[in-house]
Amino acid sequence: MVNPPSTIQSNLPAMLPLHSRNVAVIGAGAAGIVAARELGREGHKVVVLEKDNQIGGTWVYTPLVETDPIGLDPGREIIHSSLYCSLRTNLPREVMGYTDYPFVPRKSGSGDPRRFPGHTEVLTYLKEFGRDFGIHEMVRYETEVLNVGLVENNKWRVRSKTRHDCYIDEIYDAVVVCNGHYTEPRIADIPGINSWPGKQMHSHNYRVPEPFQDKVVILIGGSASAVDICRDIAGVAKEVYVASRSVADETYEKHPGYDNMWHHPMIESAHKDGTVVFRNGNVVLADVILHCTGYKYNFPFLDTNGNVTVDDSCVGPLYKHVFPPVFAPWLSFVGLPWKVVPFPLCELQCKWIAGNLSGRLALPSQEEMMEDVKAFYSKLEASGIPKRYTHNMASYQFDYDDWLAEQSGSPGIEEWRKQMYNAVSKKKRDGPETYRDEWEDHDLILQAEEDFIKHISSRVVTKK
Ligand code: FAD
Repeated sequence: MVNPPSTIQSNLPAMLPLHSRNVAVIGAGAAGIVAARELGREGHKVVVLEKDNQIGGTWVYTPLVETDPIGLDPGREIIHSSLYCSLRTNLPREVMGYTDYPFVPRKSGSGDPRRFPGHTEVLTYLKEFGRDFGIHEMVRYETEVLNVGLVENNKWRVRSKTRHDCYIDEIYDAVVVCNGHYTEPRIADIPGINSWPGKQMHSHNYRVPEPFQDKVVILIGGSASAVDICRDIAGVAKEVYVASRSVADETYEKHPGYDNMWHHPMIESAHKDGTVVFRNGNVVLADVILHCTGYKYNFPFLDTNGNVTVDDSCVGPLYKHVFPPVFAPWLSFVGLPWKVVPFPLCELQCKWIAGNLSGRLALPSQEEMMEDVKAFYSKLEASGIPKRYTHNMASYQFDYDDWLAEQSGSPGIEEWRKQMYNAVSKKKRDGPETYRDEWEDHDLILQAEEDFIKHISSRVVTKK
């Protein structure tokens, strides 16, 4: 039993007995490091198991790519990060940062002070977070989790492999899964692709445009990565054709500002003479098909006897995208939602998890959580939302954040952050080429800066 940490004491009923648990956190990306902080603040004993030799996860850029560029070979060596060299954030730094650790440019002017900085700046921010909250001391680097399974007494056995190829089995009260979900490629289904002679790859293995010099490239997808990568490639390629299922079947449009880029509907078929036919009837002789078609949730280490499954990008059943009812609160998932602002969302999920593990907070009964999950699935189905969109929170992320905050007795998402996110989303739709460098939401920036002052001045106090 532990005393409640002073930062949360005011939210606690008097004399509540709190429990300190042994918790394994899998992964030291943006989700894992904030999980470690929140669990530590709540008084738990935390070990973060991280297969890389540093924190940062996705934000650790590497020029290395996988041996199978399309990512289908199960025996390939996995490269975790999907970042490309030119990547700048698609959120302004005010919105993107954790709620009480603002992502502000350094006073010295060093680094990348832009409002939508390059990826190195994000990694630096995460490392500074790690330093300021003592996370590095909690992480076991170069330690890959191979298996997580339930043992008697409702505890978890975690098997990991160290850098020296030592296998370690340990027992934990709880496991928090923070392994990320932008590593395992999802590929578009293209009739005839097996006889098509060109090169296929997934954006997971895209780093720089140079290999596409003078090539004819078909890029499939309409996500944030696709929007960036098609421009990157159009700078050097002979022709770029962007195929997307979100446009009408008759679409055939030149990309504004580019002489060598066109938009098409999805691919109808690929052929052994190298041609590719689009649904609008156009035919292109292409060198490369680049799948910017997203990623699959993947938990190769998790053994739940079928109690938690991944089916068509739905991880479930999960109460509020976090707890499998049958194992709650002893197994949890952080950061599964997409089309969100991930850092603050993960932070709030972790506060909720930490409080439920200590006994400061209470979950509904297993049956009630299951009913809630079923009702959620039924609602999605009734609204015609495909299963693969189960964790898409585009329309309600801030309601979800505020719900988590309320449950855990923390402040909700700031009004300026919500408004700024909406303003930037609109700018991004209207001007994908310019939104990172031109904006009008100066009043919101001022509000954010005012808010940040209290966190920045208290940073020294809140350390560790
Ligand atoms: P990750 O960052 O992927 O971290 C997971 C960690 O788990 C990794 O360190 C990995 O090594 C470790 N791990 C995995 N399996 C194991 C195992 N078996 N054993 C031990 N360790 C393991 N978000 C934004 O907020 N703004 C952006 O602009 C933005 N742009 C993006 C651009 C791209 C191309 C991508 C792919 C994502 C982008 N994101 C962006 C989302 C980004 O994924 C999140 O910001 C955040 O990094 C997710 O953190 P995470 O901890 O959930 O996962």
